[in-house]
Amino acid sequence: MPTRTRPPTRPARPRRAPAHRPAIPAQPDVELLRALSNAAAVSGDEGAVRRLVLEAIGPHVDEVKVDALGNVLAVKRAARGRAAPRLLLAAHMDEVGMMIVDHDSDGSLRFEIVGGVSERVLLGKAVTVGPRRLPGVIGAAPVHLLGSERLETVVRPGQMRIDIGAASQEAARRQVAVGERATFATEFAVLAGALRGKALDDRLGCASLIGLLRGGPYPVELHAAFTVQEEVGLRGARVAGYAVEPQAAIALDCTPTNDLPDSRGRENTQYNARLGQGPVIYLADGRTISDRRLVDYLRRLAEDAKLPYQIRQPGGGGTDAGAIQQTRAGVPVVSVSVPARYLHSPAALARSADWENTFRLLTLALERYDARVLRR
Ligand SMILES: [Zn+2]
Repeated sequence: MPTRTRPPTRPARPRRAPAHRPAIPAQPDVELLRALSNAAAVSGDEGAVRRLVLEAIGPHVDEVKVDALGNVLAVKRAARGRAAPRLLLAAHMDEVGMMIVDHDSDGSLRFEIVGGVSERVLLGKAVTVGPRRLPGVIGAAPVHLLGSERLETVVRPGQMRIDIGAASQEAARRQVAVGERATFATEFAVLAGALRGKALDDRLGCASLIGLLRGGPYPVELHAAFTVQEEVGLRGARVAGYAVEPQAAIALDCTPTNDLPDSRGRENTQYNARLGQGPVIYLADGRTISDRRLVDYLRRLAEDAKLPYQIRQPGGGGTDAGAIQQTRAGVPVVSVSVPARYLHSPAALARSADWENTFRLLTLALERYDARVLRR
């Protein structure tokens, strides 16, 4: 095993998942994840994923509604009729992508980036545009036509266009309206022990939350929020947290691993999370400090069940937990993510075992939860 730094906050834990698995029957649904990942739902235009969510959870919840911003808010009542702790689990439906803002005279489409996408991953990529999923490409000048100077120049998003093959501005206008979204055209795929998709962030969280609603009932009043506009500032989660007023909340997300070699090919020791090491429990991120009692509760559950887990190193970024924490009089929160590589690019990659172990941990968290978790 290569040497690496081991920050003091990382607790002692088994390196590997044990060969035997605890008897938790529920499994996450890969075919559901495929449908969710392939659906297009760039921030502010989450309808396609919302329809899938509503269809999938309908028979398994006691109440469901779509709020003013488009969040899906569902309730699964506790196993016994008595008053039970009110727990909110949130997963965001939206994904990063592009918004069409104008049509050029040659029929190509101008666009703005929605959410955090690096311009480096855009050029030359196949995309789909609008609700009809028109195929297109983010045009890149071919190498034959580039002089040595242009070959080394970074192309800014303002210089890029999406080409849907329209021969004129009029033809482009007939096909695509300003305001429609574009997303990467990547098809979901199951690889050897891994999953690849354009929107694993956060359809992994959505699929987990759907799976949890299909299970149970639990000893908690389970509130589920499938949120909108997370990628542009946790906007849906803010109003969902206000509406639900939970006693505690867990954001289910997908976090970027920083575990590839650095630019000189050396092992990267600045891990925030690593693929294959199990669910990622957050201590802190750019938006919030996790409630210590919830962190400890999740760690204890994982250790008792011999599930692998990892602690995400404090750093930037944020999840819906950051917005929910500051609603009304305050909500204790924590985030649990599936680790994945290449987030916010045409294709992210996650390990199946990490997702399964995340799902097991969340199932346990619901099954074992009671008011004593938050005792001071
Ligand atoms: Zn996310």
